[in-house]
Amino acid sequence: MKRLVVIGAGPVGLEAALYASARGFDVTVLERGQVGASLLRWGPTRLFSPFGMNVSDRVKALLGADAPAEDALLTGPELVARVLEPVAASLGERVRTGVEVVSIGRSRMTRRDRPGNPLRFERTFSLLVASAAGEETLEADIVLDCSGVGVPCWAGEGGRPAPGERAAASRVVHYLGDLEDKASEVAGRRVLVVGNGHSAANAVVWLADLAEANPTTRVTWAVRGLNRRPVQAVAQDPLPERAAIVDRANDLAEHPPAFLTVERRAHILGMRDGPDGVEVRFSGDRKATFDLVGAFTGYRPDHRLIRELAVAVSPVSEGTAPLYTALACVTDCLAVPKPSAEDLETGEPGYYLVGSKSYGRMASFLLKDGISQVETIVDRLAGGRR
Ligand SMILES: Cc1cc2nc3c(=O)[nH]c(=O)nc-3n(C[C@H](O)[C@H](O)[C@H](O)COP(=O)(O)OP(=O)(O)OC[C@H]3O[C@@H](n4cnc5c(N)ncnc54)[C@H](O)[C@@H]3O)c2cc1C
Repeated sequence: MKRLVVIGAGPVGLEAALYASARGFDVTVLERGQVGASLLRWGPTRLFSPFGMNVSDRVKALLGADAPAEDALLTGPELVARVLEPVAASLGERVRTGVEVVSIGRSRMTRRDRPGNPLRFERTFSLLVASAAGEETLEADIVLDCSGVGVPCWAGEGGRPAPGERAAASRVVHYLGDLEDKASEVAGRRVLVVGNGHSAANAVVWLADLAEANPTTRVTWAVRGLNRRPVQAVAQDPLPERAAIVDRANDLAEHPPAFLTVERRAHILGMRDGPDGVEVRFSGDRKATFDLVGAFTGYRPDHRLIRELAVAVSPVSEGTAPLYTALACVTDCLAVPKPSAEDLETGEPGYYLVGSKSYGRMASFLLKDGISQVETIVDRLAGGRR
């Protein structure tokens, strides 16, 4: 029986574990935090895709009568409680939480040894894992890396840290859940939101509600472009929840109420933390002081754990290189074609980036894409579809 390690007990990792177990692999899931750790940081934000689109038929069958309605729009924590935890429970001891994968390599080989050579690919994978019990080495024949995109991008100009940004870290949040956790600190204070994607839109909408209840709250929304409506809308968006958030955030930007200032073409050139807050310098000789900065400037994968694997990472997306090429022309995230097994190859047979990590910096990833990746990879490994 082949030993298959899944890194990460997020929605895609658990789909992978469930399907690979059903196809006869000896599966172990290694999760550094708790089940669904990333989704637990979304706070009150709802998935804009309905439940029926977010999980496979396998998961629906497993949940049976307890499955949420097909059209339910769950928050991240609800998805964890109602879906991921029952799936993890069904996998029993195969899911190990509190276990971080620190490094993966080929047994006794560095990334430079016998590149592309079948002798290299005969070697098993060796993983250094760390938990409260200490460090140990695990062996695996196959590794599905579903560890997500857990590293926030910098808010500074060009995606680099702005001078002073690292020192101001205690005043900066990157997750919607962390912003919500600070509600009592933020109410009636000065908040800067950076970014013009869906997370920034969610943050501005959430802060608008907070400002209604606490009228002295002041929010500045800094975006790089000049558009009156900064968040890109999908024409005739088939996902109404997404359209509603985007419209509301854009309406606020176009006709800012008293609590909101929109700074357009605002690149962040510096931050200086002081007793009165963090002073932020923007391009165009602008500056202002804030109590909290919500930097919603995207997330990137952590590739430190694969430094000794010769993996083809896209220089643009930081995800799987052939997948980036295959998806480069796709503009509608609902129209992503099913990936071929070749699109998902990393150059290290048996090691795959799966789920949001395979997309890297591309924000178009949807859970349904992760499910089709899992099926493509596991079917290929198991020798065809059943
Ligand atoms: C606010 C927000 C809203 C979104 N809304 C939608 C939506 O409506 N519909 C949709 O389809 N998609 C949505 N997405 C995109 C995507 O579906 C999610 O990001 C989803 O969480 C990706 O799942 P994943 O399993 O690939 O990664 P994750 O959920 O990030 O799971 C990765 C797991 O790996 C663990 N891990 C990381 N490193 C290690 C390590 N070294 N060792 C062990 N474990 C590790 C983490 O703790 C985590 O539990 C949204 C994303 C965000 C941020």
